[in-house]
Amino acid sequence: MAHHELHEPLCEIVGPAYVADSDFAVWAYARDASAYPARPPGIVVRPDTTEEVSAIVKLANVHEIPIVPRGGGTQYGGWPPGDPGRSICIDMTRMRRLLEVNELNSTVTVEAGITGAELEERLLRRGLYAHTTFSPPDSVTVGGALCGVFGGGGAKFATLASNWPTIVGVKAVLPNGDIVETGSRTNKHAKMFFRAAVGPDLTGLFIGSYGIFGIVTEVTQELSA
Ligand SMILES: Cc1cc2nc3c(=O)[nH]c(=O)nc-3n(C[C@H](O)[C@H](O)[C@H](O)COP(=O)(O)OP(=O)(O)OC[C@H]3O[C@@H](n4cnc5c(N)ncnc54)[C@H](O)[C@@H]3O)c2cc1C
Repeated sequence: MAHHELHEPLCEIVGPAYVADSDFAVWAYARDASAYPARPPGIVVRPDTTEEVSAIVKLANVHEIPIVPRGGGTQYGGWPPGDPGRSICIDMTRMRRLLEVNELNSTVTVEAGITGAELEERLLRRGLYAHTTFSPPDSVTVGGALCGVFGGGGAKFATLASNWPTIVGVKAVLPNGDIVETGSRTNKHAKMFFRAAVGPDLTGLFIGSYGIFGIVTEVTQELSA
């Protein structure tokens, strides 16, 4: 079987073990949890760092190939079509590090591919808690929750599931490959402790965005009592 046109450069970015374009692999990424029609990507890539995500996005831009980011794949509105058979699916689940627990500022910073269940378990070991009531928790990622329905519920979403009010800020890769941070980190000398930094709420752009404004790679969330 011939490889996807970007198989080789994508292997150079993330390593060959984290690139797959066999029928078996792409069909495993063709659906969300709904019964809507399957839309297989042309290739699946599993980055490990924000810089790798940025390099993938820049490469895709040069070749004008659509990208669909993916967390747990549990949304049920129908999987974004991209360009079936050609688009790049960026599977975020390799990026699942717990980066910082800051008890002074009452925040936790994680990579976007960590699941709600793993974050909850790791915080509970320290006697801490963050809003991770995503369903189904073993599959839903923090990034997918933020960019999908859970995040988009808004501050007054009538369910405990919404994590909108607890998000402090994100690190994200924009559609042109630039890496940005929101919240108080728009000041590069500041910590990520405060969402409503001077200026517009840039964090809100990514919440409920379904990935169209960029790929979220890190999320800082408030610790709850
Ligand atoms: C059994 C079940 C119960 C559910 N219950 C609820 C519920 O009670 N309330 C509710 O609101 N939802 C519920 N959902 C839906 C699901 O939990 C949400 O849609 C959630 O947002 C999906 O998270 P995910 O990690 O699986 O993301 P995915 O499904 O992989 O992605 C969701 C969207 O976000 C984009 N995306 C994913 N990761 C990123 C990223 N890092 N950066 C940018 N874009 C990204 C994807 O392209 C996609 O458009 C349920 C789903 C199932 C299967």
